[in-house]
Amino acid sequence: MPERVNDAAMRYRDLRRSEAGPRHQHFTPRKSMGQNFLQDEEVSRWIADQVQPDEADFVVEIGPGMGALTKHLVGRPKHLVLVEKDSQLAPELQGRFDDRSDVEVIHEDATRINLRSWFKHGPLRLVGNLPYSVGSEILKHWLTPPTPVGCAVFMLQKEVCDRLAATCEDDAYGALSLLVQKDWNVEMLRVVPPEVFVPKPKVDSAVIRLTPRDPATLPVFDHVLFDRLVRMGFSQRRKQLKNLLPEAPGGWESLVASLNVPLTVRAEGLSLTQWIQIARHYEQRHEADAGQKAGEMFDVVNERNEVIGQLTRGEVHKRKLLHRAVHIFVINKRGHLYLQQRSHLKDVSPLKWDSSAAGHLDAGESYASAAVRETREEIGIDVGTTELAAQIPASDNTDHEFVELHLARHEGPIRCLPEEIATGDWFKPEDITAWVEARPQDFAKGFVTCWKAWQQKQRAT
Ligand code: SAM
Repeated sequence: MPERVNDAAMRYRDLRRSEAGPRHQHFTPRKSMGQNFLQDEEVSRWIADQVQPDEADFVVEIGPGMGALTKHLVGRPKHLVLVEKDSQLAPELQGRFDDRSDVEVIHEDATRINLRSWFKHGPLRLVGNLPYSVGSEILKHWLTPPTPVGCAVFMLQKEVCDRLAATCEDDAYGALSLLVQKDWNVEMLRVVPPEVFVPKPKVDSAVIRLTPRDPATLPVFDHVLFDRLVRMGFSQRRKQLKNLLPEAPGGWESLVASLNVPLTVRAEGLSLTQWIQIARHYEQRHEADAGQKAGEMFDVVNERNEVIGQLTRGEVHKRKLLHRAVHIFVINKRGHLYLQQRSHLKDVSPLKWDSSAAGHLDAGESYASAAVRETREEIGIDVGTTELAAQIPASDNTDHEFVELHLARHEGPIRCLPEEIATGDWFKPEDITAWVEARPQDFAKGFVTCWKAWQQKQRAT
């Protein structure tokens, strides 16, 4: 029998009377919604503190429920968003915080909510005593790059937290550890016993904090391929890896020799860096990450965009000489634009958001052929031809580049070249406009100029 709130009257009495409590006399917690409500003030306050909400611009709580954590968050950040799926609890919270302009209650499913419109708030702080029933879906939805999350503090089953934080020597180490840790630093903060919840869960819980990993701490690799290999490798833990992974280029012996591990190694015997080495081996990426080549040759142009000579990339940038670049906006049927986040290896604007593809013209190359080439090289799609959308004169706003903006249509998947692109996604134009206005510092200068030129053109037609 599920424990009813009014059955647990003693424990709920204080909650019901306090501002944080529900006004429902009969609320039956639902197991399917992972409803185990925190009853311990000290634990609730402590969890809220871990996300450092004071003066933060934007804090999001997933599954506020009856408000045990919420109560310790309200009034601390500039803006607090509560995402609650339960159709009894969400209106209750809406009513409770009606008069507060700094609290917003969203009645939605946290495994599906659109996060693209939240990039404009800057890296957000996320906290939640997560519904254990959909904990892994929530982790996947909020932590898979690209994400606006800059820090997350979650309470989950201890066993899941152990897996998230485990390293190679730990029993809990597995595919989940690797798939999360390639993008996040995971800290185990505290174990929480079942007694602090109503109804009591059967297992211990724990609190973890996740912060984004600095991409420069790992060599670049194809994330899609890495995910596939890790899942294959851990699909049967007891089996040797050589019987689970596809045939390695150059043979399994040479791969294990480069990793300095035995031929019989199992998935759990390899660290994150070794797994990345495996992915790089299958990609046949044997050279150290080089970034961009300062020796590449560009055309140098005059104020009328006429070629007056050729110099190396390094020289052109150092002397701020006028040169040429193309930006490509790849748009899908829904009118969404693919934005890329530039790799940390880029010599200009590393980790800034940018056009779907962009690059310099090689010496002697036309804008149209550079557009097709850059789209193929950076995001792995062959667009055939592109359509000229705008010509933008060189200025400080374009980093001294005469830019042509080209459009291309594409529906299918996109495969980012990891040394060029950290991550990317499709965005609605209105979300991009709001993001560019709120946080121009998140974007490469050339993109902002192209975006404004394109918006202007659309308004004119
Ligand atoms: N934060 C409260 C606390 O600590 O007492 C409640 C935590 S309870 C473990 C999980 C909460 O998440 C419940 O309020 C539940 O209704 C809500 N929830 C369940 N599934 C959800 C989903 N998909 N999206 C948003 N909230 C969800």
